[in-house]
Amino acid sequence: MDATYRYLIIGAGLAGVSAVAGIRELDSDGRILLIGDEAELPYDRPPLSKKLWLGKKKLEEIFLHDRAWYETHGVELAPGTEVIRLDPGAKVAIDRKGTGYGYEKLLLATGGRPRRLTVPGGELEGVCYYRYLADYRSTRAKASAGASVVVIGGGFIGSELAAALRANEVSVTMVYPEDSLCARVFPRELGQALQEKYRARGITVHAGENVVEIGRQGDGFVTTTDAHRVRSDLVIAGIGITPAVELAQQAGLKVDNGIVVDECLRTSDPAIHAAGDTAFFPYQALGERRRVEHWDNAGEQGKCAGRNLAGAGVRYDHMPYFFSDLFEFGYEAVGDVDSRLEVVTDWQQEFEKGVIYYLAEGKVRGAMLCNVWDKVETARALIRRGARMTREDLRGAIQ
Ligand SMILES: Cc1cc2nc3c(=O)[nH]c(=O)nc-3n(C[C@H](O)[C@H](O)[C@H](O)COP(=O)(O)OP(=O)(O)OC[C@H]3O[C@@H](n4cnc5c(N)ncnc54)[C@H](O)[C@@H]3O)c2cc1C
Repeated sequence: MDATYRYLIIGAGLAGVSAVAGIRELDSDGRILLIGDEAELPYDRPPLSKKLWLGKKKLEEIFLHDRAWYETHGVELAPGTEVIRLDPGAKVAIDRKGTGYGYEKLLLATGGRPRRLTVPGGELEGVCYYRYLADYRSTRAKASAGASVVVIGGGFIGSELAAALRANEVSVTMVYPEDSLCARVFPRELGQALQEKYRARGITVHAGENVVEIGRQGDGFVTTTDAHRVRSDLVIAGIGITPAVELAQQAGLKVDNGIVVDECLRTSDPAIHAAGDTAFFPYQALGERRRVEHWDNAGEQGKCAGRNLAGAGVRYDHMPYFFSDLFEFGYEAVGDVDSRLEVVTDWQQEFEKGVIYYLAEGKVRGAMLCNVWDKVETARALIRRGARMTREDLRGAIQ
């Protein structure tokens, strides 16, 4: 073993980096090592499908901190290092080269990995499963004006990326099995209205279609769905993620839909915590376990886990919000925004500005604030109150 650290953080994404701030609130000098398998300094992912494409951010602005910040906070960095095994008995993590890192407290902030297509051609070289800065770089280099891209998936990543590429004069064809955009969260009428807006912007939308095969043609690809064959220069898939739980599983930690943690983000091993996209945690306000794949959760949960690694023992009771931008349709959402729930819409301008409420047993479980800004706290209070509400009660409740 090379060295022992008071704190070892595996995963240098937002959750892992936020943990550093949490640790340093309570422990100013305990030795911290932040290990990540990506080569870069830790960065923010949301701009990869939005601001970087729209000229609202430059590449050098997406890094969470500069190198000096890590030095100031006494953090050693190990980029390009993949941990492949944990020995929780000996409290050692081992990387691919066989180097061992001892720890007193460990945080698993390993995030999620893109789900992959299982159809023939899904593993062809060049089919991009978009998540990492490296994916942005390679796409940006090839997707110049006039290039053609097939975007597979009509969820968050697919819908954002299609809009971003189109804004760069790229010819875009979207393919997804649902019959409306972002069907998991948008009520059907909104998803279909946005789908029409996408078409009006020049995006070809093949909704309700499954990809059955991807093949090569010359320098490009041919994507075959159950109804069409589409030739393109690039194929990008955004079909969700699966939590990176392999280390936890191998170490014998409890794993379900993610790494199981208690209300203080501790795993089934008290020396190991987990946070971010990989953690399956008790979501206090919803009264059930959840795994949340969003930016605000990764930051707040990482910070909370950091404090707890340093001995704070605080419960994670934050109600995370998330956000997205689809052309001029921007929103913030909080709580359970599952389109299968009872949905009440309160539009000021139909499908453009208003609030969507998601209810179960007459109580608000979630709210989506569509082009309505600075109201996340109001929405949180409504969900926490847990009172039964009618359609009439909700009209104008948030505006
Ligand atoms: C393109 C894109 C746009 C997004 N936009 C939004 C948005 O608009 N709003 C929103 O709320 N959320 C958005 N998200 C989601 C948000 O970015 C994630 O929820 C957040 O990044 C999760 O952070 P994390 O630290 O938990 O995990 P990750 O960001 O996945 O970081 C985990 C890190 O750990 C590394 N790792 C994993 N296993 C190992 C190992 N064994 N050894 C070493 N390193 C390892 C991974 O490679 C990765 O670098 C977006 C995500 C993407 C990809």
